[in-house]
Amino acid sequence: MGIMIDAHCECGFESRMMGAGYGFHSFREGKKEPQEDYWPSYCPKCRTLGMTDTVPKTRVCEHCGGKVLMYGWKKVSKNELSFRDDSKSTGHLCPQCQKFTLVFEEIGMWD
Ligand SMILES: [Zn+2]
Ligand SMILES: [Zn+2]
Repeated sequence: MGIMIDAHCECGFESRMMGAGYGFHSFREGKKEPQEDYWPSYCPKCRTLGMTDTVPKTRVCEHCGGKVLMYGWKKVSKNELSFRDDSKSTGHLCPQCQKFTLVFEEIGMWD
């Protein structure tokens, strides 16, 4: 089951409806494990927020091909990025204002 995420910041930055985790289509025929698992990431080179497949060992930016930082890592997040206890997760690096004021919010499910 995947979740829909909305990212926003007090500076006005907003990114909507990103699908995280994996859905029904992520399971290829004959495989038990999902073949893709998307999670929000930050590219320091392009200063953009994206969704990166965490299944491959090398996680690269879809725009520049550079290595991305996954949200939840210390370099880009003050807090763990998790929606287990709350639908909101605060303290993440904003691609626009470069402060740790980005908020991720779970807004729904997808499959
Ligand atoms: Zn990039
Ligand atoms: Zn911001």
